Amino acid sequence: MSSGSYKKEKEEESLERSGIEYLLRLNKKHSQLFQADALNREQYRALHPTEIGAMKCMDGRIHLPVITKTPLGIIQSWRNIGGRFNLGWYGYQASVWDWIHYSMSRGRNCLIIITDHYSRGSKHRGCRGFDYDEKAAQSFCRGLREQFDHVFGSNIIYTIQCSVETDEEALVFRSKDNGHFLNLAVFGGSVDDLRKELRDLYPDMPNTTLGDLLHLAIGNISHIVEIRKAKRSVAEAEHKEFILAIGRGYDWLHEINTALIVGPFDDNIAGVIKAAANIIKSNLDNGKISSHRGAVLMSSASFRESGPNQRLAEEKAKYLARMGLDVIRSKVPELLPHLHILTATMNMETRGLNVLDRSDSRS
Ligand SMILES: [Zn+2]
Repeated sequence: MSSGSYKKEKEEESLERSGIEYLLRLNKKHSQLFQADALNREQYRALHPTEIGAMKCMDGRIHLPVITKTPLGIIQSWRNIGGRFNLGWYGYQASVWDWIHYSMSRGRNCLIIITDHYSRGSKHRGCRGFDYDEKAAQSFCRGLREQFDHVFGSNIIYTIQCSVETDEEALVFRSKDNGHFLNLAVFGGSVDDLRKELRDLYPDMPNTTLGDLLHLAIGNISHIVEIRKAKRSVAEAEHKEFILAIGRGYDWLHEINTALIVGPFDDNIAGVIKAAANIIKSNLDNGKISSHRGAVLMSSASFRESGPNQRLAEEKAKYLARMGLDVIRSKVPELLPHLHILTATMNMETRGLNVLDRSDSRS
């Protein structure tokens, strides 16, 4: 081994020791990919004008841009434990409404995709947030889809329900009457056949939206073929999460079983933080997290413009960090000696993190 590669390996090893360094390195990689994708994004946007939003579980496997071969930054995602949301939550409704308002102001249709996930090979590779109960997850998503339809009730803002089968990363579109579905893992027809099947599922979907949904479906079918060719081993659901991530702007954090992401929307956010902190504590107790790495409490808020928009994001991230720490201090104090803290804002234009506070010292 050359001294250069030995040195590099040692450097990598030391980087691996810090959970914060791991996160910063991962974000840097994603930010570079995102910026390199700018031209693809522009071309895609010109051809496919529908604004696409996805409600999804924080599970790292549910990475829709990869699964549908869509440039990064086209699909706007909301992530929360188990993919649980409620339009009655004040912060959540404000955030969804902002996005819809923005889409309407640009004259674009909206497609909202409400997702659950399961594994065809093993129940325990399913959604931990629903105790691996596929039916319960689907039923929750149906309720959320109905809530969107009730509130927005227009074809211009079209909401669909879709499951992600994670072994082959296949999409399963579900009809609004709950009786029919289209599983892209077993679809074998032409593009015209696919368009017809989607039209049968969603008879009142506007043509433009249907065309853009068709493009996602074609991307997914091509992705499934690649997954099969690669004969990859399926990631087992060994949960070794060591990051408790609060807030928004985590598009870059899709590593499997690494982070518990708590969206800032839930009225019971303190209860969700407590539950997540307990899971990380038990991962530490069971030796699933190296003591070098420890646990990371990360808080993030996103912004698009400098000035007040960025400063508001900074205040939000700091507030969430304080709240997260307060909950852990009072409810799961055993986690404190293992805790590293990273507070940052996410620049949505570059997907890069601006670090506001970083503490490797343990309280
Ligand atoms: Zn899940």
